[in-house]
This record gives sequence, C-alpha cells and structure tokens, in this order.
Amino acid sequence: MSALMPTYARLPVTFTRGEGTYLFDTEGRRYLDGIAGIAVNGLGHAHPAIVAAIRQQADNLVHTSNLYGIAAQEQLAARLAEVSGMDTCFFGNSGAEANEAAIKLARLHGHNRGVEKPAIIVLEGAFHGRTLATLSATGNRKIQAGFEPLVSGFVRAPRNDVEAIRQIAANNPDVVAFMAEPVQGEGGVHELSADYLQAVRQICDQQGWLMMLDEVQTGNGRTGDWFAYQGMGFVPDVVTTAKGLGNGFPIGACLARSAAADVFGPGHHGSTYGGNPFVCNMALTVIETLEKEALLSNAKRMGALIRKLVAEKTAGTDSLVEIRGKGLMLGFQLDRDCPGLVTDALHKGLLVNVTCGNTVRLLPPLVISEAEATELAEGVADLILSTCATAPQTSR
Ligand SMILES: *Cc1c(COP(=O)(O)O)cnc(C)c1O
Repeated sequence: MSALMPTYARLPVTFTRGEGTYLFDTEGRRYLDGIAGIAVNGLGHAHPAIVAAIRQQADNLVHTSNLYGIAAQEQLAARLAEVSGMDTCFFGNSGAEANEAAIKLARLHGHNRGVEKPAIIVLEGAFHGRTLATLSATGNRKIQAGFEPLVSGFVRAPRNDVEAIRQIAANNPDVVAFMAEPVQGEGGVHELSADYLQAVRQICDQQGWLMMLDEVQTGNGRTGDWFAYQGMGFVPDVVTTAKGLGNGFPIGACLARSAAADVFGPGHHGSTYGGNPFVCNMALTVIETLEKEALLSNAKRMGALIRKLVAEKTAGTDSLVEIRGKGLMLGFQLDRDCPGLVTDALHKGLLVNVTCGNTVRLLPPLVISEAEATELAEGVADLILSTCATAPQTSR
C-alpha cells in the first residue's frame, strides 16, 4: 500500500528523465509530452538555459528571506511589470497563493473604500485553486463538496454575459472586484470574448471595482502573448500568474497596476519562500529564454498548426463538436465522454489530458517543433476518431 494520501487518480507511468518535448519512463519508453506538467514546462524538459541557471544558482544562493533585500526578486518584478504593463508584484509559491493575494488585495481595497463586507464576482466554470478561499471562488461543486463552510464574499455570474454583471452592479453595493480566467482551463478551455472583457472593464471603471485576471494557466506565453489579455484592447488592474513562470520551480505572482499597485503595505501579506533568490533566477531565465527563442510566436504558429491538422484529419466525423482555445492552450470537445482516451494515448506514447469528461486538452511545451506538433496533432486526431468509433455517444 502506498503511504501517500490518495488525492490523485494517477496514470500507471513514472518518468525518470526528460528532454525537450519528450519524457522517458522507468522502462526507457519515450512519450511526446502534450501537457507539459499542466502548462508548467513551457521550455520543455532539461532546457540547457535552465540547467545552467540551476547550476549557477546552486553554487551561489538558494534562500535568504524577505527580511532582506533580494536582487533577483527586484529584477523579476521589474521584468514582469515590463511584459505585463502592471506596476508592482507580490511573490508566492503557487497559483492558488497568487489568487489568495489578489483576493486579499481586493478585500483591502474594499475596506479602504468603506465597504465592510467586500464581495468579488467570479464565473461559472471557473477554477482558481484548492485553498479555502480559492476553492470558494471556483465554480465547480465537486471541488467544494465536503469542505463547507465556504469562504463568503463571492458572487457567481455566467461567463460571457455582460447583462448579468450589469445586474449585479445595480443590485449589490458590496462588490469591489471581478475575477476571471481569460481562457478557463480546468473548466473546459472556454474563452471569454474580447467584447465581454472590454464591457466588464468599463463597468469596473464606472463602479470603482478592480478587474482581476487569473492568468495562472494562460500567462507566460502560453496563449501566444505574454498574457492572454494583451491584444484584447483593455488592461486589467490585477493579474495573477504561476505555472509557466517557473518552468517547474514553485512560484506564483500577483501583479497590480495604478490604484491597485499600492494597496498592500508592510505586514499586509507575506510568504517565507515567496520570491526567493533561487526561484526568481529561474523565472528570469524563463522570461529571457521565451524572448530569445521567440517562443510566443512559436506558440501562436504551432497552436494554429495543431488546430488545422486535427480539423483536417477529423473532417469525416461529426463527433468533434468544437475546437477551442488560444495559442498552445487547446480544447477539442467531443460529442461524447471519452474515459479511455488518456490511457489509449499513453499506450501510443502520447501524453494528453481530458477535462470535463469530453474535452481533450493540450498544453504542450512552447518549444514544440513543427514535426512534434504534427506528431501530436495526428495522434490526437487518431484518438478522437477511434474513440468516436467505439465509445457510446452521450448527451449533455
Ligand atoms: C492551476 C490553476 C490554479 C491553481 O494553481 P496551483 O499552483 O495548483 O495552486 C489557479 N488558477 C488557474 C487558472 C489554474 O489553472
């Protein structure tokens, strides 16, 4: 019996080594990585720049404390501000912690404006993490069940529904912020439209609310921009990110701009490990490498290629209902549940994920080459075709 708490349904495979877009298991079998540790390993596995940065940092400094100045943390905050258009940054160690910081920041912003019980609008289908506040913000009962009482102060709205936000603005004076993922990840790869987000931006301005985007999964080049809101014609007040920022080293960041930038003062928030010298040097290396290797434009091109190839190869079936996503964050929704697809893929040497029962999700490393993207797309198309030839159709 395993001594681990059985919180995960694990696949029967263990990896010992990785190289670029490939992983190798204990038997030496090779797998094409279509998931990148859930949007974490943007630079793939054992990237030479990261290997060199680890060596360099191991020889010098791993951890000191936020009791002291940390040069790499200052540099990383400045780089993140540059690429995001935000002004200031707080570092934690995960996506959930980045969102906790944003939630606390919104509440403090509310209290500063005289709102005693500040509330935050969150969306149906949202995923914001597994801590008590972030699971309360999450729009999935399965994640919340058994952990009540939930943290109060969240108001739920359907996605892409401006009228619902207007209604809340008219009726709920406690609201101080809006929080959403620009592309919902765990919720099935659903994009929020630019029109919707622009309208929400306007309402936030009118109401004095903070517009907060959870870019834990969409950030750091995943969607083909540094952050998914870029190019959508508006700028949020708060942006959280994590996953791809550390390429596997735990880091989360809460970025803020203008009025939100200086809400937190000394003593308002903290983290022992948050933004330590080691992890900040890794994240600086990630940003530098994304830039040097033009990986944002690669994400756009490879994402488009995978979409096109999967659409072409599945043209003969009606079972692929919709292709969604942005850059290298892709969802292929089938007309039926596909419980065996992930294991079938594994047997073919392909790592993919299924979310919401019927949506095949791809989050490959941003370093993926054209040949690898083609291999991934063809493998996924074959899996879709064979699943739909055998699995029963389900209505939902
Ligand atoms: C993964 C994820 C989180 C939680 O991140 P952790 O590092 O697991 O705490 C929060 N928000 C979004 C959008 C995510 O995809």
